[in-house]
Amino acid sequence: MNQLSKKLLNWYRSNKRDLPWRHTSDPYAIMVSEIMLQQTRVDTVIPYYHKFLERFPTVASLAAAEEDDVLNLWKGLGYYSRGRNLHKAAKKIIADHGGIFPQTFEQVRRLPGVGEYTAGAIMSIAFNQPYPAVDGNVLRVISRIHGINEDITLPETKERITTIVREMIPDGHAGDFTQTLMELGATVCTPKSPLCKECPVAQECRAFQNQQTDVLPVKQKKEKPAIQRFFALLLVEEQKILLTRSHPGTLLKNMWGVPLIETSEEKPLSADEFDLNWLNRQVADRIGIQVHQIKHAGKVRHVFTHRIWEMEVLHCTQCTFEAVNPIYQWVNLQDLNSLPIPSAFARVIDLLDKI
Ligand code: SF4
Repeated sequence: MNQLSKKLLNWYRSNKRDLPWRHTSDPYAIMVSEIMLQQTRVDTVIPYYHKFLERFPTVASLAAAEEDDVLNLWKGLGYYSRGRNLHKAAKKIIADHGGIFPQTFEQVRRLPGVGEYTAGAIMSIAFNQPYPAVDGNVLRVISRIHGINEDITLPETKERITTIVREMIPDGHAGDFTQTLMELGATVCTPKSPLCKECPVAQECRAFQNQQTDVLPVKQKKEKPAIQRFFALLLVEEQKILLTRSHPGTLLKNMWGVPLIETSEEKPLSADEFDLNWLNRQVADRIGIQVHQIKHAGKVRHVFTHRIWEMEVLHCTQCTFEAVNPIYQWVNLQDLNSLPIPSAFARVIDLLDKI
C-alpha cells in the first residue's frame, strides 16, 4: 500500500461519520443509499433511507411494490426518476438474477439508474472489489492532491483521475478506500475553504503546497438554468381537485400534479395583466372545461437542477364541464397525501389553504 493511500485510510478509520449505510454490507441497502445520495445531502437522505428500508427491506419486497407506493416514499427527495429506476432495478434483479444481487461490475452497471460511479461504489463498498467510484467529490480531491489543472468536466480528465484512483486502491481495502475519498471530500476537502490544516495529506497535496486550493479543481462554468413559465390551475369542485399525470415538456413524468399551461411571457404576470380570454380558450381546448371565474392565488418558483419553473397559480371556479380530456382526473382532496405529488406541485396545492 503506498504511503498516500495508507495515510488517507488511517484518517478515515479514525474520523468517519457514523452513517446508517456504514453498518451494512447488503448490496441492496448500499444501492438504495448510493442512489438516494446522488445530488442529495447526507442529512436529508438519512430519514428517507430508514423509511425506505423499513417499508422495502429486500429486493423482493421492492420489486413486488406498486410504483405509486415507491414514489410516495420518495416524496420530497426530488429527482423522482431515481425512485422509479430503483424500482425497475429491483424488478430486473428478480427477473434476470433470480433475486440474487448481481456480483460483477458489468451486471451491476446494467441495472436501471446505476451509472459508472454508482456501480463502482456498490462493487467496492458491498463486495470489497477494487473498482473506482469517481464523483464530483473525488474529482475535486484528486485534482487538488495531484495538482491537475485540466477541466474536470472533460471526459479525458475524468478518465485520468479514474486511473489514478484505481491505482491508489489498497489491496483488500477497496470499500473503505472508496468511502475515504468520499468522506474527505465531504468533510475536509470541501469545495470552498477546504480545511487543509486538518487534512491528513496536506504535505503531499500539490494544491495546498502551491497555494492553489482556490483555483483547483478547474471546472467549466455551468450554463444558467433555463426558466419555464406556467399558469398552474387549481380547479376545485365539491372537495375534489383536477389533477393529471401528464406534463409534456417537463421532467416530471408520470407524477401527479395540477394542470399547467405554459406561457412564453418574458416576465412574470400580475393578476390583472394576463389575457383572460386567451387563458379561457386554452383551458377549454386542452382540458375541456369552461371556467367562469379565475382568481390569482399566488406565485410559486421552483428550482430544479437545470430548470426553474415560475408558476402563476390561478384558482378557477364556476366551471362548466364539456368533454373533459381523459388525461385529467378528479381526485378527492382528502386522498392527496397518498399520492406521489412532487414538491413543485405540492407547493401549488398548498396555496388552497390560503384562498
Ligand atoms: Fe484538500 Fe487541502 Fe487536503 Fe489538499 S490539503 S486534499 S486541498 S483539504
